[in-house]
Amino acid sequence: MRYVETAPGCDLDLSDNTNLWGVPPSAQRALANADVSQWNRYPSAYSSELKCALSDYAGVDPSMVVVGCGSDDVLDSTIRAFATAGDSLALLDPTFSMIPVFAGVSGVSVIRIPPMTPNLTAAFAKAETKLTYLCSPNNPTGEVLSSTDIESIVTAAHGVVIIDEAYAEFAESNSLALVERYDNVLVTRTMSKAFGLAGFRIGFGIGATEIVERVESARGPYKVTTPGECAALAVLREDMDWVRTRAREAVTNRQRFAAELRAIGYPALESQANFVLVPVKDSAAIEAGMRARGIAVRRFDKLTSIGDAVRICIGPWPLMERCLDAFSEAAA
Ligand SMILES: *Cc1c(COP(=O)(O)O)cnc(C)c1O
Repeated sequence: MRYVETAPGCDLDLSDNTNLWGVPPSAQRALANADVSQWNRYPSAYSSELKCALSDYAGVDPSMVVVGCGSDDVLDSTIRAFATAGDSLALLDPTFSMIPVFAGVSGVSVIRIPPMTPNLTAAFAKAETKLTYLCSPNNPTGEVLSSTDIESIVTAAHGVVIIDEAYAEFAESNSLALVERYDNVLVTRTMSKAFGLAGFRIGFGIGATEIVERVESARGPYKVTTPGECAALAVLREDMDWVRTRAREAVTNRQRFAAELRAIGYPALESQANFVLVPVKDSAAIEAGMRARGIAVRRFDKLTSIGDAVRICIGPWPLMERCLDAFSEAAA
């Protein structure tokens, strides 16, 4: 299994949930002014300066933070740290498509729990897996799990529980408080979405020191580049207002966009991320129709309990207006 990249050739790419407002100005300044003459040397092996800045952001001790080449790297390293061939990982289906890819490469089998399962906690407990993966807000649905459900799954699960919060900055709540109270939780975050730094590939995990140390050992040294650390530090130190303001605007535009879709008969799911999932009759036809109008969206075929759907990233309102026009023409 391999990740399928969106084909090039669209002038508006709404397929990958990156920040459509651009790169924060502080990151652009930091790179323009950087002393490149030192970049013949390796970066710090485990990005100690970036870890400190991220631990301030998350309000935890630096020993509770691991960074990686995107949160994909943190997720992959976590799976390799806690499961080997023949073990299993439980998740709610549908969810982030990379998890079965990483598990598969390690020979770890995936137990898919349907979201309509009456007693989720019992289902995760019964699965007796080395790893549980929760994603909230969930990709591709945008839906959140209640904090009560998350905590009862954390309590009942057998091994390590990953809570993927790639979209936390757009959501009304998060699970960070759990990392102080449970030693089997790793919350993962990314700078690829709200922080506008997807091209730099920076992600991080927050959890009990013992978990973080094992993930970091499995990850290996030198995974974050010097320019990446430089850009990330600039944004964390100087541009959190930029990040928060753009995230708020994404939330406002998401609500407006979803309301407009519902008004023309397309019940977008209730999302707390910077995208919406729109169930459609024929996702291939919508994708092709929108592509013909220069817009890329992410298509899903026959999702569990949803069926065909397209996922659309939220950006500045003029882009969303153009997207609405293209969507209604493609759906007609
Ligand atoms: C985008 C995304 C990530 C990965 O982001 P990185 O760019 O690797 O940091 C992880 N989890 C989910 C659910 C995502 O949507």
